[in-house]
Amino acid sequence: MNIPRSNNPRVVIIGGGFGGISLAQKLRKQEVQVVLLDKNNYHTFQPLLYQVSTGGLEPDSIAYPLRKVLIGYDNFFFRLAEVTEILPNKQLLKTTIGEISYDYLVVATGSETNFFGNTELEQHAMAMKSIPQSLNLRSLILENFEQALLTDEYHERDALMNFVIVGGGPTGVELAGALAEIKKGILPKDYPDLDTRRAQINLVQGGDRLLDAMSEKASEKAEKFLEDLGVQVWKNVRVTGYDGKTVRTKTDLVFETATLIWAAGVKGATIKGLDAKELIAGGNRLSVNEFNQVIGFPNIFAIGDIACMQTEEAPRGHPMMAQPAIQQGRKLGENLIRLINGKPLEPFIYKDKGSMATVGRNKAVCDLKNIRFQGVFAWFVWMFVHLFFLIGFRNRVVVFVNWVYNYIRFDREARLIIRPFKRNYDQFRD
Ligand SMILES: Cc1cc2nc3c(=O)[nH]c(=O)nc-3n(C[C@H](O)[C@H](O)[C@H](O)COP(=O)(O)OP(=O)(O)OC[C@H]3O[C@@H](n4cnc5c(N)ncnc54)[C@H](O)[C@@H]3O)c2cc1C
Repeated sequence: MNIPRSNNPRVVIIGGGFGGISLAQKLRKQEVQVVLLDKNNYHTFQPLLYQVSTGGLEPDSIAYPLRKVLIGYDNFFFRLAEVTEILPNKQLLKTTIGEISYDYLVVATGSETNFFGNTELEQHAMAMKSIPQSLNLRSLILENFEQALLTDEYHERDALMNFVIVGGGPTGVELAGALAEIKKGILPKDYPDLDTRRAQINLVQGGDRLLDAMSEKASEKAEKFLEDLGVQVWKNVRVTGYDGKTVRTKTDLVFETATLIWAAGVKGATIKGLDAKELIAGGNRLSVNEFNQVIGFPNIFAIGDIACMQTEEAPRGHPMMAQPAIQQGRKLGENLIRLINGKPLEPFIYKDKGSMATVGRNKAVCDLKNIRFQGVFAWFVWMFVHLFFLIGFRNRVVVFVNWVYNYIRFDREARLIIRPFKRNYDQFRD
C-alpha cells in the first residue's frame, strides 16, 4: 500500500462513516500513524439519501471527499480499498489493493440492508443504503412513470404507479412523505396526459405503530401527517415475498407493483475473519465491551452501527444511528491515546440527544430529551439539525439553497434519469 512504517503505533480505521471520521479527527496531532480505508472515496450522509431518491437533492450535496477530511493532518493516510479479511492472529488485513498490518484496528464499517435471508426479496426489492442505490431508485421511479404513459392496459399502468415501502421507521416514513408530495405537486404538471391521481403510496409496517423507537405521540402524529398526504399506512402486516410484480404478505393482502422499496432493517457489515458466531450479538453486530473493545481482542475495537455494546440502559446495544457512532468515535480517540500511554481506559457513556423524523413540508416529529413536539417548528428543528451535521460548508450551502428553492417553488428539480436503472419491463408485463 506504499505506507511507510513510522515510530508511532499504527491505527487502521476501516470505514469513513460518522464513527470513522470522528475518530480520525480525535487522533489528529497525536503520536500515532492513522490509516483510513474505505471502499468509497467519500463519506455518505445517509439521513438525506431519501431526498436524492426523490429528486430533492443532487447526490454530490450529501457526499464528502474523505481525502478532504484529512487535509493538513500529519501522519495520516487514506487508501481507497475494500477490506476483505481480518487476520487477528497476524494483526493483518487483506484488502482489494493488498495487505496492511496494524497495531490497533478499528472496525467502523456500519451496516447493510437486512433482507432476513429472503433471497427473492433481495433480488427484486430496491434498497436505499448508498448513493448508487438512491440513484437507482430515483431512476426507477421516473422510468415507471415514463412506462405508465406508454400502456393502455390499466392494471399495468396502476402497478407502475403503485409504490410499496416496507418498514415504518424514519426512512420509510420520510420516503413515503416525499413520494406523496411528488404525487401532489409534481406529477400532475410533468405528466398532464397521465391520470396520476391513481398513483398510490403504500407504507407497510410489521408492528402496530410507525416510528416505534419514538414516543407514541410522535407515531400518531406521523401517521396522521402521512394520511393527510394521501399515503396508505398498513400496520401489523408482514411482507413475505415479492417476485418483481406481486408483493405477498402474511395476511390476504397483496400489492401489484413495479416498485417495492425495502426499508425494514439493517444488520452489521461484518468482515470475514472477525465474524465468528461467538463475536456476534443481535443484528449481526460485533459484541464490544464498555471501551468498544471487541470481546477477546484487546487491540481491536468496533464503533458505530457495527458495534453492539450491551449496557443496563441499552440491553440490545445503542441505536444504529449517527449520534452513537459519532460519540463512540470521539471517546475511542481519547481511549486509544490513554492505551498507548499506559493509562486506564474510560467507559463510553451514551448521551441520548433524542430523535426526529420529517414527513414533508412543515411536518416533522421531534422527541428531544426533555421535550416532544410536532409540526412546523419540529420541521425547522429537523432541517437545522441536518444542516448542522452535514459534512462540508459547500454541502450545507447547496442543501440549504435547494431546500429554500424547493419550498418556495414546490419543486424538485433533480428528477433526472442520468443513469437509467435497467429494469426488465417485458418480464414485468409477462
Ligand atoms: C436511509 C437512511 C436514513 C438514515 N437516517 C438517519 C437519521 O435521520 N438520523 C440518524 O441518526 N441516523 C440515520 N441513519 C443511520 C445512520 O446513517 C447510521 O447509523 C450511521 O451512518 C452509522 O455510522 P457508522 O460510522 O457506523 O457507519 P457508516 O456511516 O455507514 O459508514 C461505514 C463506512 O464503512 C465503509 N465500509 C463498509 N465496509 C467496508 C469494507 N469492508 N472495507 C472498506 N470500507 C468499508 C463504507 O463505505 C462507509 O463509508 C440512516 C441510515 C439510512 C440508511
